[in-house]
Amino acid sequence: MQELRQFQLSAQSYRYGKDVSLDPTCLFCKIIEGHIPADIVFRNENVVAFNDIAPQAPTHILIIPTLHVSNGADLAKASPTITAELFKVAEQLSNERGLGGYRTVFNTGAEAGQSVFHAHMHLLGGRALAWPPG
Ligand code: AMP
Repeated sequence: MQELRQFQLSAQSYRYGKDVSLDPTCLFCKIIEGHIPADIVFRNENVVAFNDIAPQAPTHILIIPTLHVSNGADLAKASPTITAELFKVAEQLSNERGLGGYRTVFNTGAEAGQSVFHAHMHLLGGRALAWPPG
């Protein structure tokens, strides 16, 4: 829990202008801070989840850390604990919605379709999902 405490403290410091754990130019940091509206479906101190603005399935939720890192791999390096928490939140949201199954996706890099460079897990479900994806 020491690792978690450090991130909580650094996120707190940012709000007082002493740190850069959030990036004031980042769209998802602005959503975390409430500067841009979003349809938020879950929030705790480490994780925020909100409906995707352009849903690709009946359930399409973005689950993000409240810590600014560029992608899922960087999040795993910075905090395995929070990375695992994203998966726990995905399971919880899926259960709440009674999904029969779901897909979690991290797009990493522009070539893979990443357009927002704040780590985010896509949670997709509510319809049959084809494989392989496009
Ligand atoms: P990716 O392409 O993996 O980086 O995913 C970024 C996702 O963010 C896309 O699915 C977008 O539809 C979604 N998105 C962009 N802006 C917003 C916003 N303001 N609120 C909710 N979702 C957004």
